Amino acid sequence: MFDQIAQRIPTQTICFEDAPTVQIAIKRLDMVHPRISGNKFFKLKYNFAEALRLGKKCIISFGGAYSNHIAATAYAAHLHGFQSIGIIRGEELAHKALNSTLQTAQQYGMQFQFVSREKYRLKDTADFLHALNLQYPDAYIIPEGGTNTLAIQGCSEILTDFDRQHYDVICCAVGTGGTISGLIEASASHQHILGFSALKGDFLQNDVAQWTEKKNWKIMDDYCCGGYARTSTELLQFMHFFENQYQIPLEQVYTAKILMGLSDLLKKDYFPTATRILVIHTGGLQGRNMPENT
Ligand SMILES: *Cc1c(COP(=O)(O)O)cnc(C)c1O
Repeated sequence: MFDQIAQRIPTQTICFEDAPTVQIAIKRLDMVHPRISGNKFFKLKYNFAEALRLGKKCIISFGGAYSNHIAATAYAAHLHGFQSIGIIRGEELAHKALNSTLQTAQQYGMQFQFVSREKYRLKDTADFLHALNLQYPDAYIIPEGGTNTLAIQGCSEILTDFDRQHYDVICCAVGTGGTISGLIEASASHQHILGFSALKGDFLQNDVAQWTEKKNWKIMDDYCCGGYARTSTELLQFMHFFENQYQIPLEQVYTAKILMGLSDLLKKDYFPTATRILVIHTGGLQGRNMPENT
């Protein structure tokens, strides 16, 4: 499945009323695959190749209850004949009805371990991973959000030669920083990569700096609406306006925030005139109807 990729990902040009001279192209990774949302396709591609190469039987990964990565991983595992285990943040979820993301993952055969927030925080530590390896020797472990070296290699394939030549600024949403790291690695030196964080805080600067030595990038959290999966009336209004105006679906955790942010920056003349902007639509539409502020 990962080899039927997507040199022909559609790119759609839009124009904001407030900034008629700036052309914005939206690269529709949401259309790469109906079940493996946008950037997750690129993040999983080489990880699944590696799991197959190692002869593993099971995929283990981590996420919150609304994780697009968990849904995508469950589907890809199902398709490639792996068992899958999702280690999900929040032990209280074990006693509740599954939300639609987890239901989807379960349909694809994923089994869940619901763990406390304290335990979840240890998920990248050597001890935790060692214990997991002992318990599941046949498992290939993918970190939270899917971000590792192979994910970044996959995400560096999002940009084509055309993209490197024809755009000055590349905008994308940032969660764990894997996608933007791949874009930075793939960018040309004249390009600037601007990340819109879905989370509050500047720790992502350090995270991304661990994955790349290049300096042509910046991450801002000004449009995260207070934190991960938080929304505001303004955000939801913008999202509905944008979807009606351009017929491009968004979701409230990542992609609506980046376009609202971009629209605001354009109003404030943040970019020089005639800047050519490419926005990466990272997908995530499976999480579109999640409840607010979870
Ligand atoms: C997971 C996700 C992101 C964040 O990607 P990272 O590589 O974790 O930064 C952005 N947008 C959407 C729609 C996602 O599902």
